[in-house]
Amino acid sequence: MRIDVVSIFPEYLAPLDLSLIGRAREEGILNLNVTNLRDFTTDRHHKVDDTPYGGGAGMVMMPEPWGQALDSVRTSAPEAAKPILIVPSPAGAVFDQQMAYDFAEEDHLVFACGRYEGIDERVIDYARENFTVIPVSIGDYVLNGGEVAVMVMIEAIARLIPGVIGNPESLVEESHSDVLLEYPVYTKPAAWRGREVPEVLLGGNHQRVARFRRDEQIRRTATRRPDLIKLLDAAKLNRKDRDA
Ligand code: SAM
Repeated sequence: MRIDVVSIFPEYLAPLDLSLIGRAREEGILNLNVTNLRDFTTDRHHKVDDTPYGGGAGMVMMPEPWGQALDSVRTSAPEAAKPILIVPSPAGAVFDQQMAYDFAEEDHLVFACGRYEGIDERVIDYARENFTVIPVSIGDYVLNGGEVAVMVMIEAIARLIPGVIGNPESLVEESHSDVLLEYPVYTKPAAWRGREVPEVLLGGNHQRVARFRRDEQIRRTATRRPDLIKLLDAAKLNRKDRDA
């Protein structure tokens, strides 16, 4: 997969050199490029923002550097049919695991990091000529810029690309892979500061372990995320599930 990120703070994306994503880049599984929007300015101060038409507080990102940057990203990867342009915005659709699965299937994702009051709306309109444009929010709160939101999305998406996570089975029973949240997990030692690992996990009975974990998933989801438990298909619950 190829990922392009356009930002006025390329340094913000430096952590994407680390850990599993850094290794995926080294191994060529992920081709990730960060472009500095200021490289597409022509004035001495590399200005990317101006006052809003209609008045009001704050500044708006100017269309010309964005137009040039997006043209450059598009021409540097002409082979992709129509790349997805993800525009982080608190006014976008809320990012979730299903979006991560869908984006992980794409060949080319481009992220446009806004700053200030956001990007001149005509850029979004123009970009539709060459990209499938999707405004995406990472939650109902406001950040200073799109960079952190982009890192959240890239991490969630990249770990689903085959080869990025060593053991693909780790992805199967995770929270949000299905409706239920993940069960609690434990490691050695079996007793720690007066707290014991649940006895059922020590016995090696796979059926009992599976039942314990499923019960914990149902209980945890019902307690922490009652909105999710409502989505659980009642027809798929067996008697033991209902007892949990
Ligand atoms: N004036 C904008 C509004 O009220 O919708 C907020 C602009 S915010 C200060 C600057 C940039 O941060 C946005 O253009 C976007 O790129 C990013 N951003 C802020 N909150 C975000 C969120 N919840 N999800 C994704 N991106 C966000």
